[in-house]
Amino acid sequence: MRLTDPDYIVRLKDINVRYTGFHAVKDVDLDIKRGEVIAIVGPSGAGKSTLLRTINMLETPHSGELSVGDFRFDVSKTLTAADLLKLRRATGMVFQSFNLFPHMTVERNISLPQMRVLGRSKAEANARTAQLLDRVKLADKAHSYPSRLSGGQQQRIAIARALALDPQVMLFDEPTSALDPELGLEVLAVMRELARDGMTMIVVTHEIAFAAEVADRVIVMANGAIIEQGTPDEVIRNPSSERTRQFFRAILDRQ
Ligand code: ADP
Repeated sequence: MRLTDPDYIVRLKDINVRYTGFHAVKDVDLDIKRGEVIAIVGPSGAGKSTLLRTINMLETPHSGELSVGDFRFDVSKTLTAADLLKLRRATGMVFQSFNLFPHMTVERNISLPQMRVLGRSKAEANARTAQLLDRVKLADKAHSYPSRLSGGQQQRIAIARALALDPQVMLFDEPTSALDPELGLEVLAVMRELARDGMTMIVVTHEIAFAAEVADRVIVMANGAIIEQGTPDEVIRNPSSERTRQFFRAILDRQ
């Protein structure tokens, strides 16, 4: 099979990531279709975040191949700055901590990357920003500074900022785990709408109810490997491995 294929937006083949003395991601293969919503779950330290960060090369794999959209990378070779830029433009990333610029208004936080990276004029960028603020239900906050917003609002701004570069896939790294539960719900509501609109999304999460409701496919990782994957029905309600069963039981006991 060709590594770039119009049906797939992200393909990982034989990916290995090693930190000094630690093999964090082991021989992972993963193909993600356009419009698919993937939830990656598993115990802490399983390698979920490392795998997600490999997709836009925030982590550099030791070996393997990666394609995102039309771009294909042999990760054992150093990427050129131009390749990295293509990759970063194709992927929108939302982190656990929102990473907004504190000295800029919400509008500027979302418009500036569009001007810098996509060469949009200020008027074009602000028009797109207004649309996106509407989408995350914060149209009235364009001129506020991040410190005046709740964590849930800041995370919704971070989502709007990532969407502003028109990525082909959105990557979410535990987007609600720094938030109080009710603020997390606002963020999950925005993500649910994005999924409904057909955005390809890969979400590392502990929100099992959200994964069960929104994900097309749930991937369970443990010790750096994918140990089980399938529909939420298969994986969450009827897991095939004892390891997965234990993981969900432990989470449900905590909730
Ligand atoms: P998860 O997201 O499933 O909790 P991570 O991908 O964050 O797991 O981490 C996987 C493993 O790699 C953990 O044991 C973690 O301690 C280790 N690790 C993560 N980042 C680094 C790093 N920069 N240097 C060394 N070890 C790391």
